[in-house]
Amino acid sequence: MTRFSFWDLALKALNGHQDWGHQWRKPDPKPEYDVIIIGAGGHGLATAYYLATEHGITNIAVLEKGWLGGGNTGRNTTIVRSNYLWEESEALYDHAMDLWQDLSQELNYNVMYSARGVMMLAHTVHDIQVFKRHVHANRLAGVQNEWLSAEEAKEFCPPLNIGRNIRYPVLGAALQRKGGVARHDAVAWGYARGADRRGVDIIQNCAVTGIRRHPDGSVAGVETSRGFIGAKKVGVVAAGHTSVVMDMAGVRMPLESNPLQALVSEPVKPCFPCVVMSNTVHAYISQSDKGELVIGAGTDQYVSYSQTGGLQITTHTVDAICELFPMFRRMRMLRNWGGIVDVTPDRSPIIGKTPVPGLYVNCGWGTGGFKATPGSGHVFAHTIARDEPHPVNAPFTLDRFRTGRLIDEAAAAAVAH
Ligand SMILES: Cc1cc2nc3c(=O)[nH]c(=O)nc-3n(C[C@H](O)[C@H](O)[C@H](O)COP(=O)(O)OP(=O)(O)OC[C@H]3O[C@@H](n4cnc5c(N)ncnc54)[C@H](O)[C@@H]3O)c2cc1C
Repeated sequence: MTRFSFWDLALKALNGHQDWGHQWRKPDPKPEYDVIIIGAGGHGLATAYYLATEHGITNIAVLEKGWLGGGNTGRNTTIVRSNYLWEESEALYDHAMDLWQDLSQELNYNVMYSARGVMMLAHTVHDIQVFKRHVHANRLAGVQNEWLSAEEAKEFCPPLNIGRNIRYPVLGAALQRKGGVARHDAVAWGYARGADRRGVDIIQNCAVTGIRRHPDGSVAGVETSRGFIGAKKVGVVAAGHTSVVMDMAGVRMPLESNPLQALVSEPVKPCFPCVVMSNTVHAYISQSDKGELVIGAGTDQYVSYSQTGGLQITTHTVDAICELFPMFRRMRMLRNWGGIVDVTPDRSPIIGKTPVPGLYVNCGWGTGGFKATPGSGHVFAHTIARDEPHPVNAPFTLDRFRTGRLIDEAAAAAVAH
């Protein structure tokens, strides 16, 4: 497969970029694999990539019921940051943040990571206290985060309305400068290409319909829409449908699945320099390289597998955006969509072993797992390859909901990302 380079681009330009070829194969499933990953989202593909590159396991299939990257990976608003509250989360998200820095070089694929800064607005005294607590906790742990006054926030993001005549005036903000955005599709495609190149079979349009177990209870393989496929180990990375897939192995998950929506505006010239999030008024916004404003809303309040979501949720978000950024009042919205996110009671993910030998799960990222994609894949690959967690994901067990050792990030991730 071609390694992308400047010369390659120049050469292909001579004939109008006609002969790039396919970026990954379309293999038929083999009868058996060492590892099967269920779900070809960013996390599943990254897991396969790191299993191959760091653990020498290449007899892997990634099974996807639709098309790769067509789940939440291709539906999210691409915010990347690591300023979570607890040490366990700081370590996990900062591990991902480290990998983002040179992911394009690692994958030889431009994932368009742009560290333009993520600013989280405080609108009440309670917000100020919570965000200052985050800033102090982060700085103690060596994680970048700083407090800005309302005027400093305006200086960082000139379109921001810091006037006092709005429902929730801006009273200050927490800023992570190395936070930003990355191109979601490119992340999935880059990991897919890298994994395929090392022999991983990515099998699309192949829904897993059952998980077969040996008489001793351990995993034997999966039933799929393309027949039974044997496997020594199975990793479930099925985001919004984790509880459905885990139920196939008889494991009940502490998850709720909710629709989460986003929308984009018509494209305009560059006018919005950073990412702004507001948990209190339920809105977050950035501008894509194509010029569209990318706007995220909150989750629906009811459990559902419908990727539509309630219209009142997006209307409420657009209201908030217009108050915070009056210059966008006349913008037209182009598209609106939803994805299904799986939410844990403490708003932190589950990454690790399950009660079924040979079955591993990576889920519960809720509204904010895109940012963790490289780190999540990296530690999950370690967990599967060695049958024990990486130190970074050791606290994120399924068991914590039994023992009570929760990692409560509800204030950081309940609504926004
Ligand atoms: C609107 C929206 C905005 C978001 N914004 C952000 C953000 O700004 N920043 C952030 O960090 N996170 C954000 N998120 C969350 C983020 O998108 C997810 O946490 C992350 O993408 C999850 O990645 P994944 O690879 O685990 O899941 P997915 O990309 O959803 O992949 C799971 C795959 O499993 C497949 N699958 C399911 N069941 C089966 C089966 N039975 N057989 C085979 N395949 C199956 C699905 O088809 C899917 O492709 C947002 C999510 C949404 C919906």
